[in-house]
Amino acid sequence: MSTTYTAYTVIGVHLTKRQLTEPIAVRGCNCDVPDKATRFCPHCGKKMFVSKNLWRLKTTDDDRLTANIRLILPYNGSDNYFAGMVLSCDAPWSSADEKPCWDFKHWPADKVIQDLLVELQDLLKPLALWDEREFGIHTFVGTR
Ligand SMILES: [Zn+2]
Repeated sequence: MSTTYTAYTVIGVHLTKRQLTEPIAVRGCNCDVPDKATRFCPHCGKKMFVSKNLWRLKTTDDDRLTANIRLILPYNGSDNYFAGMVLSCDAPWSSADEKPCWDFKHWPADKVIQDLLVELQDLLKPLALWDEREFGIHTFVGTR
């Protein structure tokens, strides 16, 4: 198994895992025991509640993401996420079904960027994740 490195350019915002998740307390076991104020389950001994990260926005299967906007994690273990329009440029030795860099369309950039800005604001403002200073063009190398 090999790793494919891909250069990405995302027109959008940089977000961190800390911003995208919020810790919540969930039951630590499935025992039919009332949620009393005890630390451990009297039936199985596990913690009554454990902390889990609730994702405020997900990278896949999130209906709030649109055809223009994706949430991308450059590589597993990274703390950096990017929400926006993704332009990826695969190295020529990657799979044959990938479109090479030079096959990109040309868009009228100002209209695309203005529409994208509004779309990102609509997505991120209700989640308190919009920060205009983070909006821009981000380029990085990632894996997939
Ligand atoms: Zn239990």
